[in-house]
Amino acid sequence: NREIHLLNRPQGMPVKADFNLVSKPVPVLEEGQVLIKNLWLSVDPYMRGRMVERASYVEPFALNTVLSGGAVGEVVESRHPQFPVGSKVSSMNGWREYFTSEGNDLQLLPKTEIADQAFLSVLGMTGMTAYTGLLKIAELKEGDRVFVSAASGAVGAIVCQIAKLKGCYVAGSVGSDEKARYLLDELRVDAVVNYKTSEDLQTSIAEACPEGIDVYFENVGGDHLEAVLNLMNDHGRIAVCGMIGQYNATSAQPGPANLAQIVIKKLKIQGFIVFEHWDGYPEFVEQMMQWIAAGKISWKETVFEGIEQTPEAFIGLFNGHNLGKMLVKLT
Ligand code: NDP
Repeated sequence: NREIHLLNRPQGMPVKADFNLVSKPVPVLEEGQVLIKNLWLSVDPYMRGRMVERASYVEPFALNTVLSGGAVGEVVESRHPQFPVGSKVSSMNGWREYFTSEGNDLQLLPKTEIADQAFLSVLGMTGMTAYTGLLKIAELKEGDRVFVSAASGAVGAIVCQIAKLKGCYVAGSVGSDEKARYLLDELRVDAVVNYKTSEDLQTSIAEACPEGIDVYFENVGGDHLEAVLNLMNDHGRIAVCGMIGQYNATSAQPGPANLAQIVIKKLKIQGFIVFEHWDGYPEFVEQMMQWIAAGKISWKETVFEGIEQTPEAFIGLFNGHNLGKMLVKLT
């Protein structure tokens, strides 16, 4: 039974030495408990924020204790009537192979043909983030011209597809030509910018969005936000989901120099944290399952194998190593 601990608070880009693989005995079950064997772990960019000692919307991770993250597992022993052996559950008790629970921190997965690990991506937190940010925060309307940054990732690729099926023009930015081809050929988005090879980001985004931008789904921040502010249409909406371009910064980053565009264009800019919207999860799952069954939404996974690979998978998020959802499969 192995688990990953945070050993040091990363300075800049996290490195493998910031994490520690620790072996422990498999916990012994008490009455009213279940023993879960995790099958899939989720690594997510927001976890970088929890590695820093500062006040935020969620407590920082403690050093030398197991990192908690999204996970899907199977009940392998049970002394709890609601969770028979063989049940599949999702939890936030990841980055470990086994754990015991009294059930209140577990969600039973519904019986479906869809693979279990989809409840960590398209049917889980990242899918819910895409749905909430686009439809509730940015109040997407049919015909909107939409721009998405980190567009081939777990959240971004679902944003692109929801916007397409709502009848919008959709463009996105990515960090490789392979990712650009995926968006154009498989997801049928209208235009893509490779921000790593673009000579001038604003010019490239302007070419990708010839009629301007009504809705920006912000995942990156920094120069992306500054470029997009200049290209927003009047009364545009920006859902600020994340700013991954800044998560490893070691000093304060300059803000966009053109914030006056918010006034000039009469923009609405709103940040959100998906966990505050979790009462909408049943509605989301029902809708997403319908879209999946109708072949309207697809998704990709990038999979590392073995718990010892979890830090590398996590670090890979900040190097663009993933297409779709980054996951760790436990063997
Ligand atoms: P992704 O699957 O999108 O993985 C991260 C991707 O970000 C990478 O593959 C990489 O793609 C891109 N990236 C990494 N570093 C940079 C950089 N410096 N500049 C530009 N792009 C970069 O992760 P998620 O879909 O899980 O998360 C996407 C965003 O959504 C993050 O900002 C995350 O914090 C946020 N989020 C917010 C939530 C909320 O409740 N507000 C909930 C969940 C996620 P590429 O190769 O294209 O550069």
